[in-house]
Amino acid sequence: MATATNSKPIPTVISVDPFVPADQQKGIHNRWHPEIPAFATVKPGEAFKVQCVDWTGAQIGNNDTSDDIRDVDLTKVHNLSGPVAVEGAEPGDCLVVDILDVQPFEKMPWGYTGIFELENGGGLFAKEFKSRAAKAIWDFEGVYASSRHIPGVRFAGVSHPGLIGTMPSAELLKTWNERECGLIAEHPGAMPAVAFPPEPTGAYVGTAEPLPADVLEKIMKEGARTIPGREHGGNCDIKNLSKGSRCYFPVFVPGALLSVGDLHFSQGDGEMSFCGAIEMAGIITFKCSIIKGGVDKFALKQPLFLPSPVDPMYSSKLIFEGISVDYHGDGKQYNMDATVAYKMAALNAIAYLEKLGYTRQQAYLLLSAAPVESHVGAIVDSPNACVTLGIPTGIFDFDIMPKPEGLDFKSRGQAAIRSDGLVDTPVGKNSA
Ligand code: ZN
Repeated sequence: MATATNSKPIPTVISVDPFVPADQQKGIHNRWHPEIPAFATVKPGEAFKVQCVDWTGAQIGNNDTSDDIRDVDLTKVHNLSGPVAVEGAEPGDCLVVDILDVQPFEKMPWGYTGIFELENGGGLFAKEFKSRAAKAIWDFEGVYASSRHIPGVRFAGVSHPGLIGTMPSAELLKTWNERECGLIAEHPGAMPAVAFPPEPTGAYVGTAEPLPADVLEKIMKEGARTIPGREHGGNCDIKNLSKGSRCYFPVFVPGALLSVGDLHFSQGDGEMSFCGAIEMAGIITFKCSIIKGGVDKFALKQPLFLPSPVDPMYSSKLIFEGISVDYHGDGKQYNMDATVAYKMAALNAIAYLEKLGYTRQQAYLLLSAAPVESHVGAIVDSPNACVTLGIPTGIFDFDIMPKPEGLDFKSRGQAAIRSDGLVDTPVGKNSA
């Protein structure tokens, strides 16, 4: 007979409430700094759970306008749970992290995808579309997600942490701040911003015990923003870093100090609308081990990972190509620019989805959130880099294939937009 006495539950080392603002909770921080102390300590080989708020820290609601996306305070992101120290980890080691599971909270079976304003967050097409806030709310039923804001689709999520990394050393943090501030200096007044310097406003560290004032001030003044991925991992938004995968992180400080957040129920390669994944609050289960001297053994400049054996079977895809010519814009020829090629593939896919009756906002959100696969085709055939973007056909409840008579056009509603009705500007008609 099964009994509670001989069943050892996996311990939760960080608990949060997804309905409470992140800066009122412990075990959460939103900057990277080596003087942020460990909130919990685990032993190698021991499975443990970490609870995470959504990346904005409860700023976005389950409703039908995008005003909260428009007004989101981005100085307060990303809200990470941690840091967790792993006993015995030393600088130069490799921290092996098994992502055993990623689940939404039972009490919060929904998530969201957002298009951010040009002036507040942006996204891949922030300038081209002169982006105005829009969002889709997704309801979770087991492995599936569907949205009242994007009817006609339902897909299995490949849940993963958008952001996971070890803590930088003081030296590495200095390198980050110098090189990113250098880039900002090269692009004064850029919109959207090219990088984000340290920003004390909105900085938060929810330690177990209050930190000495001088240490807290140092963290706020110097702490690196969490927006970009870096050598330690961080906000890489790799959809295949899913539950069941194993990652190898370089260790820069004693204990490694692992932090995680920005959980995604699903995401397409590229996460193009900035907050393009299905963002959720949830629970992640880990097991860590250490390989001594792993940084040198594996020439580890950035993390490596092994993808999960679990992957939804969407073998049939409609694949769009893009080249490094801005034919949706001014027609300019670029030389081997894979970002331009990716944008063209995405704009071709959006134009196709519009022929099926989706609005541009819905199409942009869908390509960001669904298990879309993108690959670099060739990056040697000058001047055109070639990038592909594949939409799984099985996620639609109708036929999206090209047909002699054209596509099955039907009005399919609209995403959640601003309460003042303002949406972004069509391609080719952008005023600025
Ligand atoms: Zn995210």
